[in-house]
Amino acid sequence: MVNYDLNGDIGTCSDRAKKLKPCPAGSEGTCCRTCYVGPCRFIGSGAEENVRGVCGSTLGVISSRQFLSMSASGSAIYANHARELALNLLTAARGETKEHAINNWHKLYVIANSMDIGSGEMSKEKIAEEVALRYLEQFSRFKGGLIGVERAPQKRLAIWDRLEIMPRGIDREITEAIYHASVGIDYDAEGILRQALQVAIATGWCSGTMAADIKDIMSGHAEVEAMPSPTSGTMRFAHGYLEQMLRGRHSGSLGSLSKLISSGEIRGIACLVDCYHPRYETLAAHEFAVTELIRNDILVIAGGCNNSIADSASLSPRRAVEIAGNGLKNALSVSGIPPILLLDNCSEHARILTLLSAIAEECKMDDICRVPSAVFTPHWFSGTALSIGSFYAVSGVQAIFGGKSPAAGSKEVTTILTEKWEKQLGAGFSFLEEAGDIVEAIMDHIDDIRNESQLTPYYSVQLK
Ligand code: SF4
Repeated sequence: MVNYDLNGDIGTCSDRAKKLKPCPAGSEGTCCRTCYVGPCRFIGSGAEENVRGVCGSTLGVISSRQFLSMSASGSAIYANHARELALNLLTAARGETKEHAINNWHKLYVIANSMDIGSGEMSKEKIAEEVALRYLEQFSRFKGGLIGVERAPQKRLAIWDRLEIMPRGIDREITEAIYHASVGIDYDAEGILRQALQVAIATGWCSGTMAADIKDIMSGHAEVEAMPSPTSGTMRFAHGYLEQMLRGRHSGSLGSLSKLISSGEIRGIACLVDCYHPRYETLAAHEFAVTELIRNDILVIAGGCNNSIADSASLSPRRAVEIAGNGLKNALSVSGIPPILLLDNCSEHARILTLLSAIAEECKMDDICRVPSAVFTPHWFSGTALSIGSFYAVSGVQAIFGGKSPAAGSKEVTTILTEKWEKQLGAGFSFLEEAGDIVEAIMDHIDDIRNESQLTPYYSVQLK
């Protein structure tokens, strides 16, 4: 778009961002326009303690409603993406379209088997149709037992049970989120934010794994033998590679990756999320953060718009190998694991969490929060980012986001998103302004987990 508008005739979002400054109250979550009695503004010193909206809401309540609204809108995007894919699978199975086809029958049978679908008499098309219908049923369920959620470790499932945030149906959780974010329904900030976690489990573990599996079934990607060359530090479209790693079909297998993490050769895993922020030099911040992370032996897995980091000269596949620390260099030459893995779009995060879950099991850890990892973005800006961050946090992976917290104006909500979630889930959100601080926070967090999980300290490997 920027290249297309070289004459500046159209104007880009970056141009408009320079002219239009953010509203100071809105950017801290201190202005409520949930109903038309307001907007009510919670400003001035002591606003949290002294100001009430016309409906009686506190700053914590309106701020938590806004967080939930944004996060649920992002979840709705992921859910609709998965629904479209399930409908594509259905039309392909019924032979109603030439646009979509099933190219990976093996994967379809694996999924059908996990759903107890298929018998001797059933045609393969009928099996595919039943799988698509089972997927579509996940949206309208109201009692729980969602497909994909069971891929989380037992201990994580027990945490969700204890907190009473086990999701019931994808559409139900999104509807409940809109309900709890409305005026006159819920006046408990912690309860309102619990719904953000519940919708994140539904859309992350259920619609996320659904979308990933259907893409494999339709595209046949998981069958692609994608091995990096020993000189290539970046692998694009690594979703097939991750799938094969989980199935133990690569020399860079799950076992090797888990061993390299346990031994400290690979210090940890950092997952890069979200898109460009028109107010910042986001690409430069991405390049800086990814460079520093792989230099310090942290494997980077990125999705969506972040794929363009591979086009930057400073992070070309060959350059990535040169920059990478000795541990990552060794991982590439011995096990074929490149320092940077790029997934094809930002709805691929279910694959990453499935991988972290499998690493936890392989390393005999009881939960994802024991795996040295974090999710980050240099500049978050959308509801999808808050949805993804909530999905990682509820799964036990700290979300370290660049930029201001959408709830910066409320001490109550800040405490819930950071300290309370950390205590309940083993992970929460951190918001930091500078890319350097984000990198430091990721490394500190990963080293703390290594210490708590009694893994070999990373620095002792470097001293060898
Ligand atoms: S929901 Fe309450 S705080 Fe928000 S605008 Fe309406 S009256 Fe004001």
